[in-house]
Amino acid sequence: MIVIVRKPLVAGNWKMHGSRASNAALVGGIAAGLARNAPLTARCDVAIFPTFVHLESVAAVAAATPIAWGAQDCCAEPGPGAYTGEVAASSLQELGCRYVLVGHSERRALYGESDELVARKFVAAQAAGLVPVLCVGETLAERDRDETHAVVARQLGAVLERAGVAALARAVVAYEPVWAIGTGRTATPAQAQDVHAFIRGRIAALDGNIAGSVRLLYGGSVKASNAHELCSMPDVDGGLVGGASLNAEEFVAIVAAAARK
Ligand code: PEP
Repeated sequence: MIVIVRKPLVAGNWKMHGSRASNAALVGGIAAGLARNAPLTARCDVAIFPTFVHLESVAAVAAATPIAWGAQDCCAEPGPGAYTGEVAASSLQELGCRYVLVGHSERRALYGESDELVARKFVAAQAAGLVPVLCVGETLAERDRDETHAVVARQLGAVLERAGVAALARAVVAYEPVWAIGTGRTATPAQAQDVHAFIRGRIAALDGNIAGSVRLLYGGSVKASNAHELCSMPDVDGGLVGGASLNAEEFVAIVAAAARK
């Protein structure tokens, strides 16, 4: 495997939080914090993921900053078409989105998204020119049964099978143990590294160069106080951050920690 220097990425998943006013303040606060530490974005990419309806107003503020934006989901159908309530990846691309989350565990668990559906969303996102951030991760019960690797291999495998390994050159993978999301319980750096190395190894078995370049983010109660330790792991290339991304100062501190990698 050729190991390429991977620029870290810190991504903030705002979930169903925020109003037009609070989002404008938040993105402004993040931009100001990054600007105060100007070299930060030379060493770490930053992206935020507001709700669909807030994308346009957030983009209006973020456009003049180094912050990229993306959506939290997209339709599996390329669209346009008769899919009431769905949002096409092409519409997201039109709003200037660079990224889109696919397969977040909340969508898998609360809305019954299957590995197959997530893989279709991944393909639809790339067809529209977006970079999918594929979320994978095990539940606590699965970890307790020692099934972590098997679950992650299955989730990743569905995408590899449908999209092919070359597609991962234009994607990001986020390992998010379900038991660590929004719980305040974080995987230890060693636990995160173990799964990240496993994911990179699965990709390396198919294409060493892509494995060496694909960014693997850790998500699950990342905060300023644990971000550096997690991001120091050799296969952790940044974070997907939920709760802590709603506070500009905390989020910028996470970016700073990842940039120190
Ligand atoms: C997430 O929702 O992707 C997440 C990691 O949330 P939190 O950081 O709040 O655990």
